[in-house]
Amino acid sequence: MLANTDIAELLAREAESAGGILSRAFRRAARSAFLWPEEVGDVLAQNRSLTELRAIGPFIEKQIRHWIDKPSRSTHRAPVIRRDFISLAKARHLLARQPAWTKNLRGDLQMHSRWSDGSGTIAEMADAATKRSYEYIAITDHSKGLKIAGGIDEHELERQGAEIAKLNTSLRKSAGNLAILRSIEMNLNPRGEGDMSRESLSALDVVLGSFHSSLRKVEDQTDRYLAALRNPHIQILGHPRGRIYNFRLGLSADWPRVFAEATRLDKALEVDCYPDRQDLNVKLLKIAREHGTRISLGTDAHHPWQLEFIELGLGAALKAKIPADRIVNFMPILNLKTWINRVRERAARKQ
Ligand SMILES: [Zn+2]
Repeated sequence: MLANTDIAELLAREAESAGGILSRAFRRAARSAFLWPEEVGDVLAQNRSLTELRAIGPFIEKQIRHWIDKPSRSTHRAPVIRRDFISLAKARHLLARQPAWTKNLRGDLQMHSRWSDGSGTIAEMADAATKRSYEYIAITDHSKGLKIAGGIDEHELERQGAEIAKLNTSLRKSAGNLAILRSIEMNLNPRGEGDMSRESLSALDVVLGSFHSSLRKVEDQTDRYLAALRNPHIQILGHPRGRIYNFRLGLSADWPRVFAEATRLDKALEVDCYPDRQDLNVKLLKIAREHGTRISLGTDAHHPWQLEFIELGLGAALKAKIPADRIVNFMPILNLKTWINRVRERAARKQ
């Protein structure tokens, strides 16, 4: 039986040969396949219509049924630009067999709000997190260098901090036990340098650093990663490869060296759980496991409902057999803060 990831690949191929509107519909369906909550095979087995699933209309349903009824002999291995992405259906299947894994999850460490390019207010993101029984979320809006995504400067970051403090006060009076962490997704240049002042960063609970430029370089980028990890102001490196499904391959590096350096500095590399990103991917997570590297899970949500993307990252980490004590989101908030402080003190001593 074809899995949703196989169907995604067939849809992506169909998009390449079709034209115009049809091509766009297939492309949209291919990307959506990673978010279908159930395997297509299971939906069909229950005599339900595939049009229940996102981005499937009657025409595409007919096409998918045809692929399932007459499976092609040739194996369709996805090209690298579409390889090693897992589907929500698969992630849920993996997680259902290991319920403790989901129970371990205490929070989400990358999301955007209206302060930069997100659609929700911080209060709305917090509401969505409370519904998931989280203990903490980090608000990681873009920093000023990324103008295209509405990056914020030091002054706005400070005003955002006041808003978060107010929300935390009212959260403490409410029934839930959510805390909102002050953070930022700081834009890093290819030399691993950030774009925010040391003072404004030191007021934050945690700092994520990410590359958003020169992401199509084909030469080895190990030095860029080592420099970013050695940046004393960051504790987590966001969406490390910079890959995007069917759009950008992402950077390459001597990954064992990168993970070894992260472990030496006790910093975390992220699994950005956004369906199109899934970055780190399972293959690299296995190398991270060998080096005992800490892993941070962040949805990169730009809307409150997107907090559900976390399952893609949880599933990938489980598939790669990352030990639970290496996943920073499994730490209670006090341990998380202790870890961050320790990383900061070490970095300060070296300055
Ligand atoms: Zn980013």
